[in-house]
Amino acid sequence: MNKDQGREAPNRSLANSPKVDEAMSALLAEARLAARWSDLSPDVRAAHHRILRAYVEDGAPPNISEFPCGIGAELSQRDLVHIRDGKIALAYPFSTAVTDFTVRSTGVEMHAVCAIDALGVAAMIQRETEVSCLCPICRTPMALTVAADGLTITNATDPTARVWTGVMEVGSCAADSQCTSMRMFCSPEHLEVWRSDRPGMRGFDLTLEEGVQLGAEIFRAFLREAAEPGPEAIDT
Ligand SMILES: [Zn+2]
Repeated sequence: MNKDQGREAPNRSLANSPKVDEAMSALLAEARLAARWSDLSPDVRAAHHRILRAYVEDGAPPNISEFPCGIGAELSQRDLVHIRDGKIALAYPFSTAVTDFTVRSTGVEMHAVCAIDALGVAAMIQRETEVSCLCPICRTPMALTVAADGLTITNATDPTARVWTGVMEVGSCAADSQCTSMRMFCSPEHLEVWRSDRPGMRGFDLTLEEGVQLGAEIFRAFLREAAEPGPEAIDT
């Protein structure tokens, strides 16, 4: 693993649930991590951070024309940011379009690409976030607060909600494949209803706590500055 990849690659040491660790391995194989992070230039890294910070501060992305030519294409190729119709449509964990996954922090409302992305925002921005997700079966909103440590749930309207993390073949864009199967359900029963329409789908049935751990593992490093110690310094 080269230096850049180690620095921004997800922090495997955070997981304390074996199921989360297993899900992490299934979702982000080494090859996919390398495609995302290896040899990321300082310019591309800075552009990526600026895009993410715009969602956090303004609830919306910057105009892609503000960036030097080629940066958008490289971020798309790495499946970090996607541009549609000349606009930034998403930069994981954020979606420009409204989704079923809303995140609020310091008065700003953001939308996440999927449930795991919404749950991982607190770890990425190191601020308390309020997450609200809609059950795909009954459209009941479920709310929880994730503390600034990115791992602690301080209150949840539906403590028995389930987070399904589907494992799918990821092409060039996880948002169009994997993320469509990462949902939060009001109850085990509604997860079962949804799964019964998708026989044979592989995935992990997680508690809210496990979903938050997985989100934190994936996103904690996304906004880490190059000068800060990366996971390679923390990991064993
Ligand atoms: Zn439901």
